Amino acid sequence: MAHVDQKIEGMYEEVLRRNPGETEFHQAVLEVLESLGPVVTKHPKFLERKIIQRICEPERQIIFRVPWMDDKGEVQINRGFRVEFSSALGPYKGGLRFHPSVYLGIIKFLGFEQCFKNSLTGLPIGGGKGGSDFDPKGKSDDEVMRFCQSFMTELYRHIGEHTDVPAGDIGVGGREIGYMFGQYKRITNRYEPGVLTGKGLTWGGSLVRTEATGYGATFFVNEMLKARKDSFDGKTCLVSGSGNVAIYTIEKIHQLGGKCVACSDSNGVIYDEKGLDLDLIKQIKEVERRRISDYVKIHKHAKYIAGGNIWEIPCQVAMPSATQNEINGKDAATLVKNGCIAVGEGANMPTTPEGVKVFLEAKIAYGPGKAANAGGVATSALEMQQNAGRDSWTFEYTEKKLEDIMINIHQNCFETADEYGAPGNYVLGANICGFIKIANAMVAHGLI
Ligand code: GLU
Repeated sequence: MAHVDQKIEGMYEEVLRRNPGETEFHQAVLEVLESLGPVVTKHPKFLERKIIQRICEPERQIIFRVPWMDDKGEVQINRGFRVEFSSALGPYKGGLRFHPSVYLGIIKFLGFEQCFKNSLTGLPIGGGKGGSDFDPKGKSDDEVMRFCQSFMTELYRHIGEHTDVPAGDIGVGGREIGYMFGQYKRITNRYEPGVLTGKGLTWGGSLVRTEATGYGATFFVNEMLKARKDSFDGKTCLVSGSGNVAIYTIEKIHQLGGKCVACSDSNGVIYDEKGLDLDLIKQIKEVERRRISDYVKIHKHAKYIAGGNIWEIPCQVAMPSATQNEINGKDAATLVKNGCIAVGEGANMPTTPEGVKVFLEAKIAYGPGKAANAGGVATSALEMQQNAGRDSWTFEYTEKKLEDIMINIHQNCFETADEYGAPGNYVLGANICGFIKIANAMVAHGLI
C-alpha cells in the first residue's frame, strides 16, 4: 500500500475488513484511493464529510434467489444481484452481467467503477451494477427467456426510470433485455422504456447503442494518439474477446485506418495477418452464437491458437475487450517490449495492478476502462434522453454525440492529470475527475 496517502490508508483497511474475500472489489477501490491523496489535501471538506468512506459503501445491495426450470423439466436455482452504489448524480445506472464467475465481489467492483465512469460522461447518471451466476452458454432460447423472466420477477420492484436503470454487460445483450423488458411491462402494466437501456430499435432502443462501447473506446484511443501527434493509420492492433465490445472496436479501428490482426474467446486466439474479416466474426458470434475457432474453417490462411495468449502477438495498439484481469504484469511487459504504444480498455479492469504499473512506467498511452469504455453507458444515457422525449435520433447524430462525449472525457482526464502534476497519466486523471463531481454533489446533498 505504498502509494496510498496516509490520510486515506485507514479507509482502505476498513474496506478490506468490511468486505472479506471480495478481491476484485478491493482491487478497484485501491486503484481509486491511490489517486485521491492530492484531492483531499486540496479539499479538506471531503475528509471532514467522510466522502471516501461513504462512496466505498453501496447505498443499497439486493441479493435474491432466481429459480427457473430448464428444458428437461429440472428445477435450477441461481443467485441474482443488484448493487445500487451511488445516486449522487442521477438514478443508479449500470449493466447486468450473466456469467458463472459472478459473485458479490465482482458486482461490487463493477458498481464501484461505474460510479466514476458515469460521472466522467458528464451526463446525469448515478452508478450501479447487477447480474447473476447464470451461465447463458449452451442454454436454449427458451431457457434464457425463463431465466430472464424469473430474474425480473424480483428485480422489477427495485428499478424504474427515476430510480435504477439496468442495461447489458457480459452475457446480457438485446435478446435478454427484450425478455426482461417484456416481463417488467407485464408485471407493472406500464410501457416504461426508460427503465432499461439497450432495447430493440422498434421498442424504444437507440441507434448506436449496440456499437457504442467499442466505437467509444476506439474514439478514446484515437484522442490519446492525437495528443501524441499520431493516428490509427496503418497501425497493427489486437482486440481481445469477440463479444459486443470487441466486434465494434474492430469495426471502428478498421474505419479509422488501423488493421486488427487478432481477437479471441475463452478457448483460444484467432490470428489473421491480412486483417480480421469482421463480417465473418459477426456471422459466427452474433448470428450463430458459436465459438471463434470456426473462423479458420472459412479462412484457411488464418491461425487458430487453442489456449493461446493474444498479448504475445506484436502490435502497436492493444484493446483488451474481454474481461477483468486479462492482462497481467508479464503480458504488459511483453506488449511494451514488442512495440505497443497505446492501450485502450474496452473491458472493465482488464489490467492487473502490476500490468498498470508497467504501462505507466513505460509512459505509453494507457486509457483505463472507466474512461475509455464510458461510451456504452453514455449512449445508454442518450437512449434515456430519447425515451424521455419520445424521440429517436439518426445514426449520424447519435454517433457524433458519442464522439463528442469521448473527446470531452479524454480532454478532462488529460487536463486533470496535468493539473495534479502527472501529465499523461489517464488513471489519475480519470479517478480524480470522476471523484470530484460525485464528492461535490454529496457535500451539497448533506449527510444521507
Ligand atoms: N455494462 C456497460 C458498462 O460497463 C454499460 C452499462 C449501461 O449501459 O448502463 O459500462
